Amino acid sequence: MSPVESEKVVYMDNNATTRVAPEVIEEMMPYLTEYYGNPSSMHSFGGQVGEALKVARQRVADLLGADPEEITFNSCGTESDSTAILSALQNYPEKRHIVTTRVEHPAVKHLCDTLDTLTGHKHRITRLKVDEDGMIDIEEYKAALTDDTAIVSVMWANNETGVIFPVAEMATIAKERGILFHTDAVQAVGKIPINLKELDIDFLSLSGHKLHAPKGVGVLYVKRGTLFAPFLAGGHQERGRRGGTENVASIVGLGKACELAGKMMEEENTRVKNLRDKLEEGLLASVPKSLLNGHKTERLPNTTNISFEFVEGEAILLHMNRFNICASSGSACTSGSLEPSHVLRAMGVPFTAAHGSIRFSLSVYNTEEEVDFVLEKMPAIIESLRQMSPFWKGD
Ligand code: PLP
Repeated sequence: MSPVESEKVVYMDNNATTRVAPEVIEEMMPYLTEYYGNPSSMHSFGGQVGEALKVARQRVADLLGADPEEITFNSCGTESDSTAILSALQNYPEKRHIVTTRVEHPAVKHLCDTLDTLTGHKHRITRLKVDEDGMIDIEEYKAALTDDTAIVSVMWANNETGVIFPVAEMATIAKERGILFHTDAVQAVGKIPINLKELDIDFLSLSGHKLHAPKGVGVLYVKRGTLFAPFLAGGHQERGRRGGTENVASIVGLGKACELAGKMMEEENTRVKNLRDKLEEGLLASVPKSLLNGHKTERLPNTTNISFEFVEGEAILLHMNRFNICASSGSACTSGSLEPSHVLRAMGVPFTAAHGSIRFSLSVYNTEEEVDFVLEKMPAIIESLRQMSPFWKGD
């Protein structure tokens, strides 16, 4: 890592994780200090803690347009994804087909890749294609559904590009065919309005640390009436749906974060979106051979993924690090592979562009000054790297 020359952190990596909101920390603290009872205990000391879980459950349900009984707390988005898919396969053992997409987060992608080993049964997985905007083809989706399909698992919004899939329509189509529908909404919750009462979604995954709650807490929504099999058998916690003593403080924090997200939804879709647009337009205008990855409009308000052709994403991040600017790259050299991201490959982004892709993901804590700072620094960073690139022939 190069030395950091700037004191102030400019954090634009909110799709990786978010800052815990001060209001969330304040609400959590009593449950880390004085209210340490077990919510399952018979005494009223523990009972108070049980009451706090109730409040949190209601707050999560309110953000999603769900009923509190449809909310099960767990450890993370990955657990929610696994639980939903494995539950469907366990309840419908005669069905061995899953429909998903080529651009899912590893939480779904790797589960599907390893499902046969995990379950000891052979499954057929259809991974839907996306076009150059990262968008799904509904006709291909309809054609993929069969009587053997146990579950559809399609993310609501993509973590790398922010592209939003038409999950409402896709869920209705699945419902008409009597097929369960799961959506990984880890990136969507808190950023776009969701009303599950109006939707045919059976399972929805969310994760606390993506919406200003702590890491290590998540939720699986299960629609009332949908057959369910727990992933973690154990005690009677979560009405027998998820064994294990509850992560009380984090659940309380998640409840508060959901309440805040509901209140800040408008700001997210106006001020944050405007900042994102300013950043995106500024970069595309000031850096030659830069391209937007992902649909122009069907996109989360906080995310932009831009390729700077003929330079390496990791190298760009290292240079940005000198100025304490935090973002992510779509190439995967850090994981020992020279392959760019599976999402950008599925979209057909050319090799020379996919390697130089950077995802900026903003939050309500970002300011216009920060966007201006990034816009001031990026052109020179890209230009200096291109001067060293054997592929760069000038613009
Ligand atoms: N799904 C998506 C779309 C994500 O972006 C992430 C995290 O990056 C996850 C699932 C996994 O969530 P968690 O880190 O809570 O397991």
